[in-house]
Order: sequence, then structure tokens, then C-alpha cells
Amino acid sequence: MRYRDISIQTQREAPNNARSEGFAFLVRAGYLTRENLPTQLGTYTLDRLRRLSNDPSFLSHLSLPTFSSDHETFYTIPSGSIEVAHCENCKYTERLELARFTKAALPPEAELPLAKVLTPDCHTIEALAAFLDVPKEKTAKALMYTRLADSQFVFVVVRGDMQLREAKLKQHVGEVRAATAAEIERSGAAAGYASPIGLKDALIAVDDLIPQSKNLVAGANEEGYHLRNTNYGRDYTAGIVEDLVQAKAGDPCPVCTNPLAVLSTISLATRKAYDVQNILLALAETHHDAKGLTLPHPAAPFDVYLMHVPGKELETRARADEIYTSLQNAGISVLFDDREERAGVKFNDADLIGCPVRITVGEKGLKEGMVELKPRKDKENQLVSLDRLVEKLKVLL
Ligand SMILES: [Zn+2]
Repeated sequence: MRYRDISIQTQREAPNNARSEGFAFLVRAGYLTRENLPTQLGTYTLDRLRRLSNDPSFLSHLSLPTFSSDHETFYTIPSGSIEVAHCENCKYTERLELARFTKAALPPEAELPLAKVLTPDCHTIEALAAFLDVPKEKTAKALMYTRLADSQFVFVVVRGDMQLREAKLKQHVGEVRAATAAEIERSGAAAGYASPIGLKDALIAVDDLIPQSKNLVAGANEEGYHLRNTNYGRDYTAGIVEDLVQAKAGDPCPVCTNPLAVLSTISLATRKAYDVQNILLALAETHHDAKGLTLPHPAAPFDVYLMHVPGKELETRARADEIYTSLQNAGISVLFDDREERAGVKFNDADLIGCPVRITVGEKGLKEGMVELKPRKDKENQLVSLDRLVEKLKVLL
């Protein structure tokens, strides 16, 4: 491919909307617009990645620090919008909304008799715990929904110190919406003072820690009153007993109890498909230096950046053209910078675009049958004789 055919536009400055260095370099090197749309070079590169992704082990060849759940592969990036729980120790990985953790049950105790208590203005768990002087984990939090599919009233109980994760609830009951005041009243519950005790036609779903939690304070289903010492099994049961609560950073890993980290990520692949644009961003984020991208061989759009430096006596452009053809014939993909630009401009662009190898065709070398070869990540040029060039590249790439 000739540089002008693919109309590459590099930029001196990083865009001021860049949320990461990788994105900034993709824009500066002309792969993406500032609006995050692929340019011609970007589209060409994404197509290459898409073709490579037919190989199931493709991601493992890109030298990316990824981690995977059973369903999905993630890459950590501060601007990533997907929160993932991850264990450094055993590599347990899951989207945060579905992540499990090792829950600590309260110490066992004997079940005490129910006792109704007046609790005026205790509409929140915090207010209730403070008013009764009990820790939040000794209270039961109630949440009420209606299932979309059949309007089934769903009453959820989690421990007062924990948060319901709706994504987990939906896995077990299907899509839901918040219950209306009329629906709550019809079930026999009292908003703000609700418990699952004595409800009509309710599907009760409790977090799996609830059956192990004795003598919890819960609503009395009567305005202004709560019940002390409610106990699962004795006072009510549930159709669904599952993990329903939110994991957070520092919670013990469900597999090994090491504290979980919560990371901002992008998704690179699910079982069904690769997200090649996210993979390109991950590549740029991982593989760059101060001058530009340093893409690894299989992921770079071209193996070689070929350029000529205009000479005084020799026609370097024509010789570079010959080399371009011979490399292509050898199956090496080449971006040929055949512009009549200053060498400095071309060197900068070569560094930005980040092909694994740069070859410079200049007068001094040509006089001795040599060209300059520089792997993108190396500091020094090497002189390579033209007749050994292809051989040398095949070793490098
Ligand atoms: Zn673990």
C-alpha cells in the first residue's frame, strides 16, 4: 500500500478529548478520528484484526494483559465503562453486577420470639438501626418489584448491610420493574415498613445469607411498626434463595477469599464475537512509547514501513519502488511512504503509525547495496544488504 493511496493524516498534537494515551496515539497516527470513528487506515487495520480473529488463539498472540470470566475477556483501562470484579490470586473474574463473594454469616444464635415495636419515622435501614440501636446487619431490607412477563409481585429480602443487585435478581425471576403503591398495598405490605411475613400472592426471593441470619428486625407491614426477631423458616419462606447482593472492592473472593479488586475495563471478546475496535484500543494502550505506537507483528496493519530519503546523485525513490515490489512479492505487507517529504516528517510518521519494522532507502547506503533497517522498538538502525533483506525480515517478523 502506498501512503497516499490510503490517505493517512497524522497529527502533531493529541486531541484534547483523549481519555487515554492509547486513544490519543490512535488519533495522532491517523487510525481514528477525534470522534472515535475509524479512518481508512483504521478500517484497514480492523479488517486485518477481524481476519486474524478466525484463529481461536488470536488474542493470545497480541501480548495483551487480559483476564477472562467464563464468558468474556476484559482489558483494564481507566476510561472503561464495564466494572469487573477480579481476584489477583486465583484469577476469578466476573462482571461486577454478577460477581459473587464469600459472605460472612453472623454467629449462630437461638431464635427469639417475634416482638412488635413502635418505630416512628424509621423509613430507612440507617434510621431504623439507629433508633433500635442494632447493627445494620441485624436488619432485613425489603425491596418490591413487579415481574414484567406476568405482573407477579416480587418481594425481595437482603440483609440490611448489603445492597441488592438487580442484575442478579433478574437472572432468577426475569425482567422486573419497581412495584407501584397499589401493587404493594394489594399484597398486604406497607411501604417503608414491609416484610415478607403474611403477604398474599407474592413471589418471595431472599439472598442466600438470610436463612443463616437469625433474629433480624423487619417491617411489621403496618405503618410505624417493625418486628424484632424475624426468622426465615419459622416466620416465612421463599420461592427463591439465591445470591442476590452486590459485591464490592475488598469483599473476599468466592473461590479463595483473597480481597477482590474492582477494575474499569472494556470487553475484548465474548464467546460469540470479538470486539475488534476495543482490541485495537487495547493494543494501542499496551503497545506505545513516547513517540507513537509499537504494534506487535500480527496486529500491525503492515509489517514494514518503507521510506526513501531523497538523494543528490542517486534516484532513491525508484530504488525504493523496486524494494517495495520485491517485499510484496515475498509476502511481506508494506506501507510505502513515497511522499516527497522531509526525512524528519517521515520518521515521525513511521514512529506514530508503529509498524514493526522501518526500512529507510538512502543514498549513502544504496551506494554500498544497503538499506537501513530499524525494528520499531529498537534504538539503533542496522545496515542490511539488499540481497539479504527479505531473509532478515522473515526472521524479525
Ligand atoms: Zn480468588
